[in-house]
Amino acid sequence: MIVATGKSILNGIAIGKIKIYKAPERTIDSGTAADPSAEAARYEAAVEKAIEQQNELYEKALVSAGEESAAIFETHALMLEDDDLNDSVKEIILGQKKTAEYAVKEGYDNMAEMFRSMDDPYFQARSADIIDLQNTVLDILMGTDSASMQGTEPSILVAEDFAPSETVKLDKSLLLGMITIEGSSNSHTAILARSMNLPTLIQCKEVSDSWDGQMAILDGYNHCVYIDPTKELLEALGKKREEDIKKEALLQDLKGKTNTTIDGKTIKVYANIGGPQDIGAVNQNDAEGVGLFRSEFVYLNSKEAPTEEEQFQAYKLAVESLAPRQVVIRTCDIGADKTIDYMNLDKEENPALGFRAIRICLTRKDFFKAQLRALLRASAYGNLGIMFPMIISVREVVEAKAILEECRKELEAEGKQIGKFELGIMVETPAAVLCADELGEEVDFFSLGTNDLTQYTCAIDRQNAKLEPFSDTHHPAVLRSIQMTIEAGHRHGCWVGICGELGADLSLTETFLRMGVDELSVNPKAVLPLRKQIRSIDLSK
Ligand code: PEP
Ligand code: MG
Repeated sequence: MIVATGKSILNGIAIGKIKIYKAPERTIDSGTAADPSAEAARYEAAVEKAIEQQNELYEKALVSAGEESAAIFETHALMLEDDDLNDSVKEIILGQKKTAEYAVKEGYDNMAEMFRSMDDPYFQARSADIIDLQNTVLDILMGTDSASMQGTEPSILVAEDFAPSETVKLDKSLLLGMITIEGSSNSHTAILARSMNLPTLIQCKEVSDSWDGQMAILDGYNHCVYIDPTKELLEALGKKREEDIKKEALLQDLKGKTNTTIDGKTIKVYANIGGPQDIGAVNQNDAEGVGLFRSEFVYLNSKEAPTEEEQFQAYKLAVESLAPRQVVIRTCDIGADKTIDYMNLDKEENPALGFRAIRICLTRKDFFKAQLRALLRASAYGNLGIMFPMIISVREVVEAKAILEECRKELEAEGKQIGKFELGIMVETPAAVLCADELGEEVDFFSLGTNDLTQYTCAIDRQNAKLEPFSDTHHPAVLRSIQMTIEAGHRHGCWVGICGELGADLSLTETFLRMGVDELSVNPKAVLPLRKQIRSIDLSK
C-alpha cells in the first residue's frame, strides 16, 4: 500500500480505481495551407461551436455549481468573440498561408503570453483561460473527444490540474473523486469540486503514472490517498463512507423544509460565507440567506485594496443571485489575525485589542467610503443587510451611520440607484452586550459574534492553542451575555442572531431557542444538521 498526501478540499471518502487523466496529444505540424480561405472558414466555424459549448457549460455549471462557478464560461464565450484574438489568428491563416490548427496554436499562444507578462494578477490568470480555450478550439478542429479520456468506468481521476471547462465536461456519474498535482484551494476547480460535493485532493506531489488502474481510497478527512489499500482499511473506510452517504441522504430530505420546532416555533437558519464563491454551497445546503458575509476576504484575496467597482461586483453577485433571500454583509473586519500588507498596519503588542475592524474604517474614511458606496449600490439588487463589526459604543455606530448617509447623498447626486436594506451590528464585545439597550435604538438587528465574544469575555486569546484547557465554549458568562443581548435587542425591536461558531453547536440549539434567538448563521455544511436538530426540539416540554 502507498500513502500519498495532499490538501483536501472537502471532508469525504471516495473508493474506486484510479484513472490517470491525460490531455490528448495535440501535435501540429508547420501547417502550410493549400486553401487559406477555407482554413479561415474552418476557424470561424470552430469558434462558433466553441462559443456554443461555453454557453452550454455555463448552463450546466449554473445548475450544478451556482452562478459564481458558472461565470467563468460566460467570460470564456466573450474571450472567444474578441476581435484582436480572432484577427490575429486570421492574419496568420491568410497572411502566412497556414492551417487553422497552426494559427490557433500561434495566435492563442501569443495572446496567453501577453496576459502572462502583465503586472495585474487578474490579467495574468487570464492566460490560463486562453490556453484552455486554445485546447477547446483545437479539439473541435481536430475532432478530439476529450470526454473519452475519462474512460467508461467510475473512477478517481488524477491529473496535473483540471481546467474549469474540463471539470464541468466530466461525466459526474463516473466521477468518484479528483486528485491533482497542482491546484489551489481557491482555484475554479476547487470551487467546482466543493460545490459538487466531490472528495478532492490537490497539491498531491507524489502522484505516479503507475497508479493508473489501481484500487484506491481518497480520504478527504485525513488529506491523503491510499493506493492499493489493505483489506482492513477498505472495510473501515468503506463503512465510514456508507455512514456519510446515509447521513447525507437523511439531510437531503430536509431540503425545502422549515426550521420549525415540534411545538411550532420557526427561526431563520442562514449561512456564513467568505465571498461570492460560496454561493453554490448556500444553495446546495438550502440556507435561507446569508447571516455573515465576511467581506474582509474580498480584501484578503486582492493584492491591493479592491476598488469600489470591484467590491460592488462581488457584493452585487451575492445579493442578486440569492435574492429575495437576505445577505448580511459585514464591513471590513481587518486586523488582529487578519493582516494585509497593503494596509500598512503597524505591528502591535496586542493586535486582538488593537487597531482593527470598525476602528480602522472610522479612521480611514476614504477606505471605508469605498466599501459603503459599493454596498449601497449593491442594495439595489436584492435584500441586503449591512453590519458593522467590533462595536463597543453608540458613538461608533452613530459615526458609521453618518458616513453611510454621506455616501447615500453622494450616490443619489450621481443618479445611482439604492435599494432598501437593514442595518445591524456584531455584538462581540462585552461592552456591546452591556450597552445593548442603547445600541438597539440605532440599528435593525444584532448578530452575536461568539468567537470574539468568548475571547473578550473570558480573556482567552482565540489564537493561542495553549489556552485550550482553560477555554470553555459554554462558559456561563458567554451564555448569559447571549441571553442579555437577545432580551435587549427585542426590547428595541431588533431581531437577534448568532453568527459565531457557537451557533452550529447542536448541544446548545435548544438553549438558544429558549432564549428567543431569531436567527442562527452557520457554515453552509452545518445548515441541514441544524435544521434537523431544530425540528427535533419541543419547547413546550
Ligand atoms: C465572531 O467573532 O464570532 C465572528 C463571527 O467573527 P470572526 O470569527 O470573523 O471574528
Ligand atoms: Mg469577530
